[in-house]
Amino acid sequence: MNKKLKDNSTYISDTLLKLFPTTGIPLNHENGFTLLVAVLLSAQCTDKRVNQITPALFAKAKSAKEMLKLSVEEIDAIVRPCGLAPRKAAAIRGLSEILVAKWGGEVPQSWEALEELPGVGHKTASVVMAQWFGEPAFPIDTHIQRLSQVWGLTKSHKVEQIEKDLKSLFPKDIWNELHLRIIFFGREYCPANKCDGKQCSLCQELFPKRRPGKYYSK
Ligand code: SF4
Repeated sequence: MNKKLKDNSTYISDTLLKLFPTTGIPLNHENGFTLLVAVLLSAQCTDKRVNQITPALFAKAKSAKEMLKLSVEEIDAIVRPCGLAPRKAAAIRGLSEILVAKWGGEVPQSWEALEELPGVGHKTASVVMAQWFGEPAFPIDTHIQRLSQVWGLTKSHKVEQIEKDLKSLFPKDIWNELHLRIIFFGREYCPANKCDGKQCSLCQELFPKRRPGKYYSK
């Protein structure tokens, strides 16, 4: 591996560790099922908004079995502020049916089983595997996608390739905390479309010769 790239990735993970020593899970949840539902709801929606609406949903249903007592319409009415509500409500009802029918109501610790659930793609499965089961995973969200390009950790714009590139750059035992630290950094310091690539000390350190706007245009 390119030494400069390896050094940069080590500098990034060390800096993020200092900035964000602890990595609490952003989505409020009480068990694996409620985390799965919260992650599903977070598609195209902020974690903050998800955390505002999940108390009402989880007060009615904290498990797949309890969720089946609600109709899609009832779920829809509660999750509407998250956007894409009809699709998300149908997915929550649908995955609850499968969890009860096939997995005794539990969330399976299996990539394949998770990704077969309605509304659950690879990213949602990765978050649940990492944040609930502690399995090494690198869920790629919009912040990670942007920052891995800004920091030169990938040349790709494809999520699948970015995930492969990051997994090859960083040791497996830090993936779960690192993905959260990159998200925290993105939220706090690197808003989309508002930088010329020279504002933070991290980018200045990594790319002292970077010309503003060359790598990260507005
Ligand atoms: S300098 Fe700009 S592009 Fe680099 S991390 Fe900071 S905000 Fe993001």
